[in-house]
Amino acid sequence: MNPSAHARNARHNLSLSFSSHGHDIELPVILLRGASPGQTLVVTAGVHGDEYEGVRAIFEITSQLDTAVMSGDLLCVPVCNPPAFWNVSRSSPLDNGNLARVFPGNSEGSPTEAIAWYIDRHILAHADFYIDLHSAGVRCLMPTMIGYESGDARAEAAANIFGAPVIWAHDTIPPGRTVSAARARGIPWLYTEARGAGRIHPDDLAVYRNGVCRLLQHLDILPGSPTPAAPTLRLHGDGNVDASITTSRKGFLIPEVDLLDTVTKGQTLGTLRGLYGEILETFTAPRDGVVALIHVCPLINSGDPLFLITGIRDQ
Ligand SMILES: [Zn+2]
Repeated sequence: MNPSAHARNARHNLSLSFSSHGHDIELPVILLRGASPGQTLVVTAGVHGDEYEGVRAIFEITSQLDTAVMSGDLLCVPVCNPPAFWNVSRSSPLDNGNLARVFPGNSEGSPTEAIAWYIDRHILAHADFYIDLHSAGVRCLMPTMIGYESGDARAEAAANIFGAPVIWAHDTIPPGRTVSAARARGIPWLYTEARGAGRIHPDDLAVYRNGVCRLLQHLDILPGSPTPAAPTLRLHGDGNVDASITTSRKGFLIPEVDLLDTVTKGQTLGTLRGLYGEILETFTAPRDGVVALIHVCPLINSGDPLFLITGIRDQ
């Protein structure tokens, strides 16, 4: 994949095709080459197969932009994990792999590891700036937000113009993520989350679509100055969904808090019920903080993320 080999002032529908352990995998790649040279923004979605807001935002942005006014390139992969996407699942049905845990991947590894390797080498490698569009998936709720790594001034400036209602700064980024691969390449990055729950809320779609267009302006790929609304909330703390409160049981979850509620250590977050309605387990906040994830589907299986409490409310 070499974007510069394709003609300027045009849209190119490309693909990354490879075979892994007998599975043929084809990643859709949309390249918009501006009429003039400039920076390259890489946008990905569908890293988790049950997150749809970013997929649709990429469809809308790439169908509406005019390459004649662009200086630089927009390189998009709208569905990064097709096996999981067609299976309506976060992880791949081929190998149970979570694509956001295996970067920078391995071309000879499992299908999910091979996808990571191809995206890192053939897509991320071309980025001057990278944004990965996630959401809460079919079973969870998360705030509509833009996330960045504390201390990266380039990413913080871009997060501030994106226009998401919640801006979330993280001190640490665990390994294996798309964004950790970008960081290893020295590429500034952002990621998004949104309400999810198996549908595309029109407000979330607008935030993603307008935010990416503002990012294109911020990078001087599109003309004009970005004019975002001020965020309603700034969070600072861990955003690792793997660190969510979970359970070893099956059951029916009844939450007692809402998304973005401020909670105190020991406060009841919800209860897990058996099929007579009896309480099997009560979940409490492990710390003071803000509710950043709720498992919105009442049906709970062992290991599901139930609640995530993040750090401080800066304002
Ligand atoms: Zn995700």
